[in-house]
Amino acid sequence: MAIQGDVQENILSTKKALDDLGIDGTVTDVKTADDVKKLDGLIIPGGESTTIGQLSLVNSSLRIIKEKIEGGMPVFGICAGMILLAKTASDRVVGKTNQPLLDLLEIKVERNSFGRQRESFEAEIAMDSISIPKFRGVFIRAPSVSELSSDVEVLSKFNEKIVAIKKGNIIGTSFHPELTSDVSLHKYFINLVKNSKN
Ligand code: GLN
Repeated sequence: MAIQGDVQENILSTKKALDDLGIDGTVTDVKTADDVKKLDGLIIPGGESTTIGQLSLVNSSLRIIKEKIEGGMPVFGICAGMILLAKTASDRVVGKTNQPLLDLLEIKVERNSFGRQRESFEAEIAMDSISIPKFRGVFIRAPSVSELSSDVEVLSKFNEKIVAIKKGNIIGTSFHPELTSDVSLHKYFINLVKNSKN
């Protein structure tokens, strides 16, 4: 999704992951509802969830994205992207935020859960259940999942906070895999897309 945020980084990581897997695929940037209709999978990048949500609401792509994901299209929400997947979002300082969300997962997300920009950090993350035991997590004004329903799987926690989740073809991370050279999460996502087409 190329409305705002870490778009080019995700395009590069996804292309590298396709190469590593030896899979022939097309990576495109997506802005409009018509772009969304053609997709087999969508990455919603990190950036500013209020901006991405508001602009995609205005150009009607938000509604089409929701329909496609409800129809089974895999989606990978990164940081701001994970916030957009949630039913409700609040900010650690200002409380409940009134922002457009996709409401695809029964989760509540706390924005800026680890502090503001200057509190950005990197930490080692384990996601054993998807066979990624070691991953360098880059956290930038990162959210965490503060409430979730029992059908949402916790993939990883850091400092007791939930930082990676999965439900069916939907995955979300608080951290930014596109800012490391490790493309294992992008590869995992591509396999979700591939399997959803079989
Ligand atoms: N704090 C941002 C938001 O609430 C997310 C930060 C990020 O994506 N790196 O949208």
